[in-house]
Amino acid sequence: MIPSAVFTRKFNLQHAKNYVNIIRNISAASSKFDLPLRYQGNDKSVWVDYINLDQKYKPLNLGQGFPDFFAPTHVTDALATATKSNDPLLNQYTRSFGHPRLVNILGKLYSQVLNRHIDPFSEVLVTVGAYEAVYAALQGHTDVGDEWVVIEPFFDCYESLVKISGGVPRFVPLKPKKTSGIISSSDWVFDKEEMASLFNQKTKGIILNTPMNPLGKVFTQDELEFIADLAKKWNAIVISDEVYEWMVYENAKHIRIASLPGMYDRTITIGSAGKTFSITGWKLGWAYGPEKLLHNLKVVHQNCVYTCATPLQEAVAVGFEQELERFGQPNSYFNTLSQELLPKRDFMAKFLSDIGMSPSVPDGGFFMIANWEALADQVPLHEEPDEFRDYRFTKWMTKHVGIQGIPPSTFYCPEHKHLGEDLVRFCFIKKDENLQKAADILYKWNSSYLRQKSAGA
Ligand code: PMP
Repeated sequence: MIPSAVFTRKFNLQHAKNYVNIIRNISAASSKFDLPLRYQGNDKSVWVDYINLDQKYKPLNLGQGFPDFFAPTHVTDALATATKSNDPLLNQYTRSFGHPRLVNILGKLYSQVLNRHIDPFSEVLVTVGAYEAVYAALQGHTDVGDEWVVIEPFFDCYESLVKISGGVPRFVPLKPKKTSGIISSSDWVFDKEEMASLFNQKTKGIILNTPMNPLGKVFTQDELEFIADLAKKWNAIVISDEVYEWMVYENAKHIRIASLPGMYDRTITIGSAGKTFSITGWKLGWAYGPEKLLHNLKVVHQNCVYTCATPLQEAVAVGFEQELERFGQPNSYFNTLSQELLPKRDFMAKFLSDIGMSPSVPDGGFFMIANWEALADQVPLHEEPDEFRDYRFTKWMTKHVGIQGIPPSTFYCPEHKHLGEDLVRFCFIKKDENLQKAADILYKWNSSYLRQKSAGA
């Protein structure tokens, strides 16, 4: 069992004093309707900016991570059935911590994959997307000054959610071991000494994301054991965001850190129906873990959204029930989706390489990071006023070439943003015809540049 000391407050006096001083200074100068202090500095969102750009310029959008094809019909049919059901309660509020049918099947599924009994009513919480699960985990386990280790490049909300919970993020970047030839997401590694140096008495936990957004890295047994040993040494929690758990390619294997010896008791694992069943618009997720850790998330959830949409939970439960019957078989959606994504991944890696970018081929998930530095001459970056080069590159491409990607410096802390400046993130969970359009647009752009260049030479 995890020692009870992990639940005692890790409180940093100096940090608390600073916090109180900041509050005093700001409240003296601020007006009644200013953004509350805890949200200040967290009001920018790359998604809001880039969705606006998308609406204005209508590029081929390879930025945001969602499929542009239909969700599996056994799940969408189940939603229609739930809403038209003879059971009037299926359109009414359900249990706060998760609709019984859904927590039951999630408990069954994760008991099977972790090879231990997970109690559906005390060890599973259903949330508004995985996003709320991350929010509840951080709000529920952070006191002012608690530190959270965050691995870069990170899913951007981790930084702001740690901060608004009163915590302090400590960042460790993954860096590519090689920069030429075929690069894989597995070439991106953390420096073990650097990672270890971030852990200390104030560390409340580490946020892990495997398979990872934006890199597609699938953490190896060795890397996970190293992180697990640090968590045990420093009596820290692991929040393991595993929303891409079923999208893993070729020889890579998704390992749940909760399955390592002694780790279930200190791990909160997070999943998403949006990613699992290609229904990102449903915004349904969950967290599972030991009752003692989940209790805090339940308190946050109950005092925030209270409960999630009943028919959505019913339909996702039906989806999982059917998947569990064919679990591990070729016709399971978990298998067919990865199989469908693999050629899309390879097609994207090829067209990006063909035009001179250097992609890191992901082992999991549906995003690809590519280095565009070799194309810098082709893009008049000075035409865009943004501070970071990747913002200028992606905005110029959206406006003038008609392809939208996401600037990865957004996935780094201020001190490390330069590490993402030569990169762009694209999403490949798109119809083949749209990936083909992307390839055509980029090939055309590239060849017209090369023609102009040779004419000028
Ligand atoms: N975690 C990661 C790593 C993600 O990429 C996303 C979605 N982009 C989420 C959590 C949020 O998932 P949901 O849509 O279920 O809230």
